[in-house]
Amino acid sequence: MKTQKAYPRRFSFEFFPPKTDRGEEKLQLTRDRLAEHDPHFFSVTFGAGGSTRDRTLKTVLDLNSQGVSTAPHLSCIGASKADVAELLDIYRDNGVDRIVALRGDIPSGTGSSGGGELRYANELVSFIREHSGDHFHLEVAAYPEFHPQASNAEQDLRNFKRKVEAGADSAITQYFYNVESYFYFLDRMEKMGLDLPVVPGIMPIVNFSNLVRFSDMCGADIPRWIRKQLEAYGDDSSSIQKFGEEVVTRMCQQLLDAGAPGLHFYTMNQADASLNIWHNLSR
Ligand code: FAD
Repeated sequence: MKTQKAYPRRFSFEFFPPKTDRGEEKLQLTRDRLAEHDPHFFSVTFGAGGSTRDRTLKTVLDLNSQGVSTAPHLSCIGASKADVAELLDIYRDNGVDRIVALRGDIPSGTGSSGGGELRYANELVSFIREHSGDHFHLEVAAYPEFHPQASNAEQDLRNFKRKVEAGADSAITQYFYNVESYFYFLDRMEKMGLDLPVVPGIMPIVNFSNLVRFSDMCGADIPRWIRKQLEAYGDDSSSIQKFGEEVVTRMCQQLLDAGAPGLHFYTMNQADASLNIWHNLSR
């Protein structure tokens, strides 16, 4: 069994598909600044229930044609197999070779299956392997602090294992600020005989209320000492950003020093916060 240290290091940046012309221009500037640092790949999110299908597609093809490999996120909730197959073919025919394969969040009012033909990410991974063979490198999501809908921690790990057995090549984690949760996840994964790179997802801290909102939705814990310190800064956004940069830089350095096989930054289409951390790191 390989340790995480044995995998080549990779750094990647995630975007969401812009809605407006101004958003597109901004993303282009962000992309250009991040591309200078030679990332392994970019990725582009996919809205719940396919709500950004066409915008994700357009953004991925556009970014991918500019020289940095770009991976679409593809969620199966609410989709038919024919929808998924069509997207896979378009991506393959346009030189895309990596996909972040997800279930996605269930849109409200659609029931627990989300109304589609594939219920969980492991089914999506199997379907992609059936339809496209080994063409795509498949990333899946991992949850060191557990997925908020998991019936229990053990079951969540077994469900992660299903995705690996279905053909995932590597994983990116939900963001976390408790480094130990990541290493504990790796230990448990290894005990289950799972052997694949698990890259920490990194959420820079730039805005306290947004961070609280996202974290409540996705089940990421903001440790009390971080929350209290951010609260104390009130509206002082420059202190929030300075503290956030320091805390997240330390965490990233600890992760890399202890063997994490890279980092995946949730950029929110902004270059500064991720790049400031990036420049602080000795890689
Ligand atoms: P799954 O792995 O299917 O797990 C979902 C839940 O079901 C878990 O609780 C799991 O324990 C359980 N489960 C899994 N398989 C089974 C099974 N076979 N039987 C019973 N229970 C099972 N969301 C978006 O909408 N768009 C995005 O672009 C997006 N990008 C993301 C990128 C990353 C790196 C991460 C970490 C998350 C992202 N998300 C995105 C959020 C993600 O879609 C949600 O967390 C979603 O609720 C779960 O997706 P999943 O692929 O992890 O699902």
